[in-house]
Amino acid sequence: MTATMPAVFVGHGSPMNTLEHNRYTEAWHDFGRSIPTPTAILAISAHWYVNATAVTAMAQPRTIHDFGGFPQALHEVQYPAPGSPALAGRVADLLPTDVYLDESQWGLDHGTWSILVHMFPESDVPVVQLSIDANKSFDEHLALGAALAPLRDEGVLVVASGHVVHNLRAIDWGAPGAGAPWAQAVDEAGRSLMATAPARITELATHEHFLRAAPTPDHFIPLLYVAGLADAADVTADVLVGGYDYGSLSMTSYVVAG
Ligand code: ZN
Repeated sequence: MTATMPAVFVGHGSPMNTLEHNRYTEAWHDFGRSIPTPTAILAISAHWYVNATAVTAMAQPRTIHDFGGFPQALHEVQYPAPGSPALAGRVADLLPTDVYLDESQWGLDHGTWSILVHMFPESDVPVVQLSIDANKSFDEHLALGAALAPLRDEGVLVVASGHVVHNLRAIDWGAPGAGAPWAQAVDEAGRSLMATAPARITELATHEHFLRAAPTPDHFIPLLYVAGLADAADVTADVLVGGYDYGSLSMTSYVVAG
C-alpha cells in the first residue's frame, strides 16, 4: 500500500530564495520532512508557460537558469535530480489532452528547483515537469489538475509553483514583507475559496483586483492544478505558509493533505 501523497502549491518568490533561509524556505523544508518520500515529483512551474501541454521525458533533466541579473552563485546552482520517463508517460496517459513528450527542450526551471533545493535537498527523487498550456482556459487547467488525481495514490507528489498575487510592475522595493491592500484582498479571497470550495478558485478571476494581481496568468494557473486535485478528492486546501512581499507579491502556499 502506498500512502496517498499530499499535493502542494508554493508561492516561490525571488529566485534568491534558493540561497536564502527564511520562514518560507523553512516551511518548504519542513513540509518535505513531514511526508513519506515520494516515488517521484510532478512539478508544475509558472516558468514553463508555452503553447502546448508538455512533460519533460528525459532521463536526466538539466537545470535551467531562466533569469538574468542575479549573482553568479545562483547561476551555479544545480539540481541534478533524475527524470522519470515512466512518470512522463503516465501523465500523458492520464491527461485528457495531447501531451508532448519533451526529450530535449526544457528541463527543471527555477520555479521548480528554487523550492526543491529546500524541500528535497538530496535531489534524489525523480522529477518531471509539466508545462502550462497558454491556450487553455482556467476551467481546462482545473480539469487537468483533477485528472492527475490517481498519481497521489501512486506515491507521486505534485508540486505546483507560482503566485496567487504576482505583479512585478507594481513592486515597491520599500515594502519588504508587506502587501498592498488590493493584493491582500485578492489573496484573502483566494484563501476563502481554497478553504471552502477549491473548484471555485476560478471565480477569483472576477475579483475587482484580479487583473492587478495577475496581469499575466502564468503564475496563477499552477494553483488551479492543486485546486483540481483537492476537488477530485472532495477535500479543501490548507495554508502551508502565508505572507506578502514588496506590496505586489503574495507568498501564500497551500497543501492538500494526503
Ligand atoms: Zn516566478
